[in-house]
Amino acid sequence: MDFDLTEQQKMIASLAKEIAQAFGPAYWRQKEEDGEFGDEFWKAVSEAGFTGIIIPEEYGGSGNGVTELLIAMEELAANGCGMAGPWYLILTEVFGALSIIKHGTEEHKQKYLPRIATGECEFCMALTEPDAGSNTLNTNTMAKKQGDEWLIEGSKVFISGADRAQGMLIVARTMPKDKAAKKTLGLSLFLTDLPHELVEVRPIPKHGINYSHSCEVSFNGLMLPETALMPPQDTGWHHILDTLNCERMAFTAAAIGIARLAISKAADYSRQRKVFGDAPIGSYQGLQFPVAEAYAALECAELLNYKAATLFDNGADARAIGHAANMAKVVAVDSAIKAVYWAMQVFGGHAYAKENDVERWWREINLVRLAPVTQQMALNYIGEHVVGMPRSY
Ligand SMILES: Cc1cc2nc3c(=O)[nH]c(=O)nc-3n(C[C@H](O)[C@H](O)[C@H](O)COP(=O)(O)OP(=O)(O)OC[C@H]3O[C@@H](n4cnc5c(N)ncnc54)[C@H](O)[C@@H]3O)c2cc1C
Repeated sequence: MDFDLTEQQKMIASLAKEIAQAFGPAYWRQKEEDGEFGDEFWKAVSEAGFTGIIIPEEYGGSGNGVTELLIAMEELAANGCGMAGPWYLILTEVFGALSIIKHGTEEHKQKYLPRIATGECEFCMALTEPDAGSNTLNTNTMAKKQGDEWLIEGSKVFISGADRAQGMLIVARTMPKDKAAKKTLGLSLFLTDLPHELVEVRPIPKHGINYSHSCEVSFNGLMLPETALMPPQDTGWHHILDTLNCERMAFTAAAIGIARLAISKAADYSRQRKVFGDAPIGSYQGLQFPVAEAYAALECAELLNYKAATLFDNGADARAIGHAANMAKVVAVDSAIKAVYWAMQVFGGHAYAKENDVERWWREINLVRLAPVTQQMALNYIGEHVVGMPRSY
């Protein structure tokens, strides 16, 4: 067991910190207000090699693992970007690059990975549907073979980045539910280029993270070539688990980073703000203890999250990865919400002013209890698969 970062990991952390300081809270406050993508930030992370961080060198990346990707994400979040840094990388690196590296054909790799590495190709993932959120196996979007092509019909919801991505990972049903021998059979993964005239995309006005738009998507008779399928057909559920496990770890890294950012800003404020006499408010234990408690829990969750990433990078069994990733997610999100809640309390009424940024981080952190997997569904997983208790649904 070695808890030290490697030289390469330290370099990635320090580069992420540098970028985050250049694109700090004021930059994202404005982007959030304007509902605008952070183009300048995207250019900076692409030039720094973060868009190619997990992509093998032969496809133009730096060949690192998910552990290094999480380090970059957490440091970007913690040093000024909040959710924005990890979010952009999740859409393109996890949904796009990781899925293709793990399960794409050589043709998919040649087509997409070099452009993802340079930041020219952004990605999104179309998994969630109006009737298939927590219950992914309820996916209704159909992919039917017509000659040499696939006909895709259906609707998706909350597809982040679909309004500007050049590539999309689609989860669709290639076998009707009632024909599948097992409920985990019958889903397949497809790749398509965007924009496409037969893919309708409508952004959904939302609570936060408005520097990226999450969209309703309709496939209106979308025809894809045979090669758009990530083989083998019908076993896409097992393949998407790699992407979903890493998405979970990435949002955990984001939650920890946002919490560290909010705590650090609150600690600065708490040292200066005096309300009664000479004692700064930070010395009041009513404020200090919950922040300290949240901080300690975040450190524990961080260790478990890096364990999950290390298991993934070492090719461990998906179950072992899922165990660590879900447990880290539950603890990280509960403690990150607590951390940002108490950071707001430290600011008192001033927390409500947009210029102090904490209200934005509060909106951002609340996403992570709802997506990519709700806290309840992560607890269901732990209860059933880790503890061995019966399933309720
Ligand atoms: C801003 C945003 C961005 C998103 N981006 C993407 C994206 O890019 N791509 C994508 O595919 N999806 C995306 N999603 C979708 C997200 O993954 C889903 O919203 C999430 O999985 C929850 O599904 P749902 O909203 O349908 O909730 P539901 O499944 O309807 O759940 C509703 C509530 O019931 C609870 N519940 C349901 N079943 C159980 C049970 N068995 N036991 C206990 N409680 C239960 C849940 O925990 C939840 O609290 C995004 C969502 C948001 C909000």
